[in-house]
Amino acid sequence: MLNIFKKAQENKYAIGAFNVSNLEQVKAIVQAAQNLQSPVIISTSEGESNFIGKKQIRLIIDAYKEQTGLPIILHLDHGKSFEAIKEAIEIGYDSIHFDGSKLSFEENIEETKKIVDFAREKGIKNIEGELGYLRGGSNIHKTIEVKPEDLTNSKQAEEFVNKTGVDSLAIVIGNIHGISKSGESPHIFLDRLEEINKVVGDEIGLVLHGGSGIKEEDIEKSIQLGIIKINVNTELRVAYTESLKKSLQDDPDRVTPYKIMPPVVEAVQKVVEDKIKIFGSNNKS
Ligand SMILES: [Zn+2]
Repeated sequence: MLNIFKKAQENKYAIGAFNVSNLEQVKAIVQAAQNLQSPVIISTSEGESNFIGKKQIRLIIDAYKEQTGLPIILHLDHGKSFEAIKEAIEIGYDSIHFDGSKLSFEENIEETKKIVDFAREKGIKNIEGELGYLRGGSNIHKTIEVKPEDLTNSKQAEEFVNKTGVDSLAIVIGNIHGISKSGESPHIFLDRLEEINKVVGDEIGLVLHGGSGIKEEDIEKSIQLGIIKINVNTELRVAYTESLKKSLQDDPDRVTPYKIMPPVVEAVQKVVEDKIKIFGSNNKS
């Protein structure tokens, strides 16, 4: 397991994994981490990686690591194909998520195991698997109903972890991707989390996707019950887009990108800082 996760697990806080697809978002996250002296994970999904470029994001993060001395982990989020994961590893991503949750339980184990074997050999210290049906995309959508059978089953989690050898596991405990238009927070099944934590929490780190829009008190309780990584994407996207629209409207004649973008960076940074404080990873770098 990565050192930053070990420390988080021992001291009961979580590390934010924030998604990016451009430099302004990276800048906002790094500035937030620097202000609060927090370790941080910067994630790119396959789509986001394709836009910014895997090699480009690796070099950007390297430059920021050198400048700040902060532990910044570059993570592939929801890697779905072996090819995308292989490419990310070869380019130097620090951490990998293989999302086999759409496969059958047996196939998910089989495919995840293959990825774990490959990634281990290449020296990757964090391989995240996923179990359960995580609904929604990272956007604003209609209210999503989570069904009982969507939730991660603790018996299956135990078998999955033992058979695949993952370092961390993304679980479904009522969380969804994205935010519902009504502003309603999803119900988080803390009892299910507790059950899963009891069977696998000592061996691996538990990961909560869909950190946008979850009630602060549920986040805090989840961390007490073993969550050590929380993914946040949609709230950053909303802050980015809304502040960009405002920045353009405030001065319609402005055409200089480095004058249009500072309020956008600031808005995203504010969201990241709020999350870092809720997750308790401030002053843990
Ligand atoms: Zn996710």
